[in-house]
Amino acid sequence: MEVPARLAAVAERLAASLGPHAVLTDPAELRTYECDGLARYAVSPGLVVLPESTEQVAETVRACRDAGLPFVARGSGTGLSGGALPRSDGVLIVTSRMRRILEVDLDAECAIVEPGVINLAISREVSPAHYHYAPDPSSQQICSIGGNVAENSGGAHCLKYGFTAHHVTGLEIVTPDGDVVWLGAGKCRQSTGYDLLGVFIGSEGTLGIATKVVVRLVQTQQCVETILAAFPDMASAGEAVSAIIAAGITPAAIEMMDALSIEAAEQAVDCRYPDGAGAVLIVELDGPTDDVAAELAAVTARCEQSGAFELRRAADEYERGEIWKGRKSAFAAVGRISPDYIVQDGVIPRTALPEVLADIAALSERTGIRVANVFHAGDGNLHPLVLYDESVPGQGDAAEEVSGAILDLCIGHGGSITGEHGVGVDKAKHLPKMFTADDLDTMQLVRCAFDPAQRCNPGKVFPTPRLCGEVPRRGTAPHPAQAAGLAEAF
Ligand SMILES: Cc1cc2nc3c(=O)[nH]c(=O)nc-3n(C[C@H](O)[C@H](O)[C@H](O)COP(=O)(O)OP(=O)(O)OC[C@H]3O[C@@H](n4cnc5c(N)ncnc54)[C@H](O)[C@@H]3O)c2cc1C
Repeated sequence: MEVPARLAAVAERLAASLGPHAVLTDPAELRTYECDGLARYAVSPGLVVLPESTEQVAETVRACRDAGLPFVARGSGTGLSGGALPRSDGVLIVTSRMRRILEVDLDAECAIVEPGVINLAISREVSPAHYHYAPDPSSQQICSIGGNVAENSGGAHCLKYGFTAHHVTGLEIVTPDGDVVWLGAGKCRQSTGYDLLGVFIGSEGTLGIATKVVVRLVQTQQCVETILAAFPDMASAGEAVSAIIAAGITPAAIEMMDALSIEAAEQAVDCRYPDGAGAVLIVELDGPTDDVAAELAAVTARCEQSGAFELRRAADEYERGEIWKGRKSAFAAVGRISPDYIVQDGVIPRTALPEVLADIAALSERTGIRVANVFHAGDGNLHPLVLYDESVPGQGDAAEEVSGAILDLCIGHGGSITGEHGVGVDKAKHLPKMFTADDLDTMQLVRCAFDPAQRCNPGKVFPTPRLCGEVPRRGTAPHPAQAAGLAEAF
């Protein structure tokens, strides 16, 4: 059967089992799902399904399996690497109707939630009991916990508290074959055997669909202090970051913005950062009151010694919100100063910050492509925003080149091509710069162990799609264990 006929058969089967309201086939409705946060890539899905339960996800996946169709999971569609880019010959499985917080267990300090639950909704649910869910992507008001799991998302406070992988202790998943299984220890903190939970988190939707997520809840600290420090330039702000960490302080967050990103934030949200700042740092400290007071004094001194010309301390929650407003809005704000932009995401060792930022500035000057920098300075997780105007011939390509060259700089300094936004479709071509062919084959074998038919989010992460059987026969000699008759290639 041709693909359109198979899609029609799946639509009919699922309309009968899930109800017609769960299946979208109207081209106008399908188009609303054609991209995620990376709008440069757009494909209208063959079919959209909106399940309301694990069983409905499993039934949808089994229908895809029986029809030999690929499928892609989608949470809120805020991903920035094209991970949720649909397939025109496949089914997009959207979790936005799976938004129940199923259980909150404060004694065990955990909650069990459905994958479409919005990140911030968990903290809102448990905040009256002085708990919260720690990983806080800037998109936390809209992104889903299922998407966070798939991307191993981070955020401003992950410097101290860790990433999604450190806060998810169990997952119910639907495998690419349509089976429902649990990974990890769930409400316990330890499990035995291979760490399949660790394999799944950050796998970008290529190993199955998460349908329940067990998250850790963290007690909210007694005291929080937030300061905004203004510096004449990026170098002095970078020096302050190093000095703070060298002093043995681990702030909850240290975020940096350069002059261009400050300009954008001012235009977008009127954040009123100090005039003339070449860079600002937002430093947040939390913990017992006495400890925070001592750290605040130490951080203030380090900032002043590094050249801060103005320091503002938030006096209350309102002022804290005002300080964070500029940072949290920075990605979208850049739209105020440039018609088009690429949000890049790379990691470098923190000690390389001054050198890499200088190299990015030189690259920008050489090419005439402006780059705004806003990033998680404590983690060395850069988010250069590469600004361009698509209507100017050649500028789009030049921006792409600058964006790729920034990743080369990250790799050159021992870093990575992504910190938290994932590889998706966008960075698959860069993966071989970090990994050898053997590394990629090994990763492919892991993928094949979950999804031998390669139906689950195909075309993402790996640069060259390959069938599972092809992986070990890349033209290299057989593995010694194979040659000795001890192992078999599959
Ligand atoms: C303004 C803005 C700010 C951002 N800031 C941050 C930040 O600070 N830190 C950060 O890490 N990211 C950030 N992001 C990126 C993005 O919000 C995260 O990657 C987020 O986790 C994506 O969640 P989502 O629900 O939108 O997922 P989607 O975009 O819908 O999907 C992302 C990936 O997850 C897969 N997926 C979705 N649901 C499931 C599931 N249930 N099971 C298996 N796979 C699934 C998809 O197939 C896809 O590969 C930002 C994005 C924007 C637009």
